[in-house]
Amino acid sequence: MGVRRVGEKLRYVKVDIITIFPRLVDAGFGEGIVRRAVERGLVDARVWDLREFTDDRHRSVDDVAFGGGPGMVLKPAPIFGAVERIRRERGDPPAIILTSPQGRRFTQPEAERLSRLSHLVFICGRYEGVDERVREHLATEELSIGDYVLTGGELAALVVCDAVIRLLPGAVGDERSVEADSFARGLLDYGQYTRPADFRGLKVPEVLLSGHHGAIRQWRRREAIRRTLERRPELLGSASLDAEEQELLRDLMEERKGANHGDKRD
Ligand code: SAM
Repeated sequence: MGVRRVGEKLRYVKVDIITIFPRLVDAGFGEGIVRRAVERGLVDARVWDLREFTDDRHRSVDDVAFGGGPGMVLKPAPIFGAVERIRRERGDPPAIILTSPQGRRFTQPEAERLSRLSHLVFICGRYEGVDERVREHLATEELSIGDYVLTGGELAALVVCDAVIRLLPGAVGDERSVEADSFARGLLDYGQYTRPADFRGLKVPEVLLSGHHGAIRQWRRREAIRRTLERRPELLGSASLDAEEQELLRDLMEERKGANHGDKRD
């Protein structure tokens, strides 16, 4: 897995999003780390209103489906027109991403891969989806953010952009936090605590208050592995664990085996 390293050279990414709801997308770029990344020039984002690429009086972007059936389909011409304009004005993008529940599942390794590309174009579907010729002859890939159906691709594009942008060097204040995040090395993150150390009698684990860095590091590693083992054991198969972590994993598995035997005896 290509985990980004602290201090890696700054790079910037162009993002173009084609939508019939530009304000919805603008809102996603208007706050927090994503907004700061735009302001710092790490991201050059443009939102394209699909209706600008229509040639009829009603600026219609959709039409009925051939063969009948409910709902409307986004027409190919405006989408092809928008991508051609992007190519002319912004250069040839390495990725033209069609958002779709039928696409490859978007994951952290996918975010890593996309964060290394220089230019991402997103096509946001609506209604019953987009004309199939867009998928076959224009998009270079099709991404889904999960096994559920949204009303449109805007939120999906924003989810992908958010996950990609926070990986760009310089986007997040302290880059070590990105390296420790869930999935970065195939493990879930350990639990986090902040002040007060005693909240209504609920105490923070003693070791975190000890000031003993070695013990804290060890506790966190163990917690990350324990959580992954409990919640998402399938991730461990492809996690990159060092010798110490493998040892911790063996211990935790032994512990669980012991606990299971105990349960059966009860
Ligand atoms: N009829 C389509 C199907 O079953 O595959 C669903 C169309 S959906 C109502 C409208 C648009 O929302 C899609 O074209 C896509 O752009 C977007 N969308 C919906 N669910 C999505 C998901 N899980 N991931 C990414 N995009 C999604």
